[in-house]
Amino acid sequence: VTDKINALPEGANYFSLEFFPPKTSMGFANLQTRLERMSQALRPLFVTVTWGAGGSTATKSLELAEICQRQLGLTTCLHLTCTNMSRSLIDEALEQAKVLGIRNILALRGDAPRSEEYRDEAQMAGGDSNKDFTWAVDLVRYIRKQYGDYFCIGVATYPEGHSDASSEYPEHQDPLFDLPYLVEKTKAGADFLMTQLFFDVEAFDKFEKMLREHESGVFKTIPIIPGLMPIQSYQILRRTTKLSHAKLPSDILQRLDAVRTDDQLVKEVGVEILCELVEHIKKRPSPARRGFHFYSLNLEKAVSHIVENTHLILQTLVDDDEAVVELGPGTLS
Ligand code: FAD
Repeated sequence: VTDKINALPEGANYFSLEFFPPKTSMGFANLQTRLERMSQALRPLFVTVTWGAGGSTATKSLELAEICQRQLGLTTCLHLTCTNMSRSLIDEALEQAKVLGIRNILALRGDAPRSEEYRDEAQMAGGDSNKDFTWAVDLVRYIRKQYGDYFCIGVATYPEGHSDASSEYPEHQDPLFDLPYLVEKTKAGADFLMTQLFFDVEAFDKFEKMLREHESGVFKTIPIIPGLMPIQSYQILRRTTKLSHAKLPSDILQRLDAVRTDDQLVKEVGVEILCELVEHIKKRPSPARRGFHFYSLNLEKAVSHIVENTHLILQTLVDDDEAVVELGPGTLS
């Protein structure tokens, strides 16, 4: 991922898309067709594939990562969590990723599995039996120890603070609380940072400034990729922002409240809002090429409109040998 970012022409912007593994084979077939269309029309710099807490989606995540990397030739970043997972499952996942030609891992701590349906599978996968991995930094260190520089490693960050224990200790939900651990995680070998979804763009501005100016110097030039979630419906928006403890600024909420009973209008206003967020962030100076990560929820339309309207679709192809291939006029249409 970072090789591809660095190979982009100066001033170029890029984006990545997140996908999660569907539960059924029919879901996989549908997603594969959609991915083929999206990758050709939108050309994300890379895609990411989520990993269920405790290894609950291990097989399916690897299956989807294989489709992305091998069958579709997309640069793929596999998410990998480390708590409630056996060391052997972590080893297997990393080895399998290597076999598939995957060079990028988003190293995460993860949470306890939420859904009952996945809990058994996670336990069968060795949940709880491993005390070596408590925080994401343990996984970053482990990957570096086992694989040297083979993997490009991304880590998660939270512009509005991580929600851990925020009900008990509300003061903990503050990026300042996470900062020493983020420094540690970055020093341990992270190559890029990817943020939790947010709508409060001022919180992101403040967060990014804090990192860039941090006395440790570790965030000076590292890619900080803002995570944005296209608005698919009013209900999904309220649920996901609540779960991730992301603030919905009052002006955004008012615009959506005004159309909340009309799903189509919610989507249209949602695209406008996301485009405004992208344009705002694009204008901010950045020492690294400016990129955006979209939590696609496996859906196509909203994200397609956003990347088209904000001119994020790359005019050049960066292939995996880092060569930049210029496309002729009209190639995109
Ligand atoms: P950590 O970096 O370990 O931090 C977690 C919390 O612990 C923070 O509050 C931090 O300040 C604190 N902390 C860290 N180290 C210490 C320490 N030594 N002592 C005390 N406190 C400490 N989850 C999934 O299950 N699957 C996914 O695919 C997935 N993808 C994600 C992608 C992105 C971009 C993001 C932002 C999150 C994703 N998550 C995913 C959610 C993530 O697993 C949770 O947010 C999890 O609670 C924290 O993971 P982390 O890697 O940030 O943990």
